[in-house]
Amino acid sequence: MNLHEYQGKELLASYGVAIQKGIVANTPEEAVEAAKKLNKDTGTEWWVIKAQIHAGGRGKGGGVKLAKSLDDVKEIASNIIGMDLITPQTPPEGKKVRKVLVAQDVYYPGASEPDEFYMSILLNRKTGRNMIMYSTEGGMDIEAVAEKTPHLIFTEEIDPKTGLLPFQARKVAFNLGLSGGAFKEMTKFVSSLYKAYEGSDSSLFEINPVLKTSDDKIIAVDSKVTLDGNALFRHKDLAALRDVHEEDPTEVEAGEAGLNYVQLDGNVGCMVNGAGLAMATMDIIKLSGGEPANFLDVGGTADAERVEKAFRIIMKDDKVKAILVNIFGGIVRCDRVAQGVVDAYKNIGEINIPIIVRLQGTNAKEAKVLIEESGLKVESVILLKEAAEKVAEVLA
Ligand code: GDP
Ligand code: MN
Repeated sequence: MNLHEYQGKELLASYGVAIQKGIVANTPEEAVEAAKKLNKDTGTEWWVIKAQIHAGGRGKGGGVKLAKSLDDVKEIASNIIGMDLITPQTPPEGKKVRKVLVAQDVYYPGASEPDEFYMSILLNRKTGRNMIMYSTEGGMDIEAVAEKTPHLIFTEEIDPKTGLLPFQARKVAFNLGLSGGAFKEMTKFVSSLYKAYEGSDSSLFEINPVLKTSDDKIIAVDSKVTLDGNALFRHKDLAALRDVHEEDPTEVEAGEAGLNYVQLDGNVGCMVNGAGLAMATMDIIKLSGGEPANFLDVGGTADAERVEKAFRIIMKDDKVKAILVNIFGGIVRCDRVAQGVVDAYKNIGEINIPIIVRLQGTNAKEAKVLIEESGLKVESVILLKEAAEKVAEVLA
């Protein structure tokens, strides 16, 4: 589950990570109030107004703007709130902005120039260890840095037995070329950031940029936080930060019905029990010349009600030209599922696309008979190969 920048920064701050202070606002009026409060609390006379959407690259897309007066704050906030912000990470039509973060300006001039670094924490799946990835080349697209100057990206792996050790935090500060006060600040930053990552059961932190201010403070200017969905039950407070506006509405609806659904671009809808079988089914569809329109795992109990819900969700996508139902009857009996398909078909009424049902396992033969005798336009097969051939046939 992803957090908004302002939520991520609050999480970081609760673990003692230094952040660019800000207040979230839903309207231009709230933005002005937030700016006044920040002026009181931090003394800042300039502010950055930052669109809150779940996508990076907001700066380049016009979603991050500097305000040098309260009038500026109001004008910029009213331009950004409600806009469809397009960045390289949003869908082509952009994402609607509902909130802005009004933050203190931290790029104030001073003896030395501010300096931007990149820092992320993530799991290295090869070694099974968390690692800190960091670079002197902050503020820009890290993919471009990785491509053009890979030697400027460093990694530090953490042994789960010991956790992050003090020398590792010092190594990060050293590799970033810091000394004096900034060096000490960076070691504190790294260790509190790692505590926040572990404590929140996150699967990704990306702070870009981490800023060294002209007076040698090290602070998080941006935050991208992804929480591990499987650990959310341990963090009710964090789970409550979910913003469903940022999610695909069909996926949200499917989740509420206990279905594991991911929308894809193809033309063959699939309904499968079990994630592994669902993946194999998608492969078979591709091999037979189709493209899967979705991933859908109906779970272990594919009863009539779930099957009906799954049909309705698949058919919302008008690119779907055929539906392949692939169920393995282990605990669930195939004839029960077949009855579910027949009932769902009758309840939904008009289904104008071919449905191919492949039921294998307990009572597969009875299931086939049930479907064939129902008189509905549903094709029943027992072998996956036959199912693939049928799909190819109906697409041709
Ligand atoms: P992103 O574009 O979605 O990654 O959003 P960021 O939060 O990283 O902001 C984009 C850019 O805005 C940063 O790289 C900075 O250059 C700039 N920015 C952020 N905060 C400030 C600030 O306090 N003052 C100024 N002048 N620029 C800022
Ligand atoms: Mn950023």
